[in-house]
Amino acid sequence: MRCPWCGAVEDRVVDSREVERGEAIRRRRECAACGQRFTTYERASVAVVSVLKRSGQLVPFERAKVAAGVRAACKNRPVEDSQIGELAADVEEAMRELGSQVTSEQIGLAVLERLRRLDDVASVRFASVYKGFEDVGDFARELGLIEGA
Ligand SMILES: [Zn+2]
Repeated sequence: MRCPWCGAVEDRVVDSREVERGEAIRRRRECAACGQRFTTYERASVAVVSVLKRSGQLVPFERAKVAAGVRAACKNRPVEDSQIGELAADVEEAMRELGSQVTSEQIGLAVLERLRRLDDVASVRFASVYKGFEDVGDFARELGLIEGA
């Protein structure tokens, strides 16, 4: 880490501790050239996306839940499981680009947009049901009930 005082790149860590409830590590560094101390913070670079549900509840984004919802809509349709996985990964990526907090509706719309390109029938099934539910996982459960009836 380049010293902000003299620009030298050699330093040693004199202290290292978890901060922000374990979400970051704070390191005190001492420049080997000028002896000045400075601080660096280290954070995981995979951003966590939270989903704001209609109820106001905030839950972590789960790609597996999205995939489960899409899989339910694609039942008996010519859609490969690998395509469902790709769709869910693509939706996750799109949500990350929107920021650290998205709504369940934004997820639903992102799924719908992509599902339309994969299979019309599945997208219509998805569209007709997901709007009334809290999230895609609820949709998957509901579809399971409908088809089992
Ligand atoms: Zn220095």
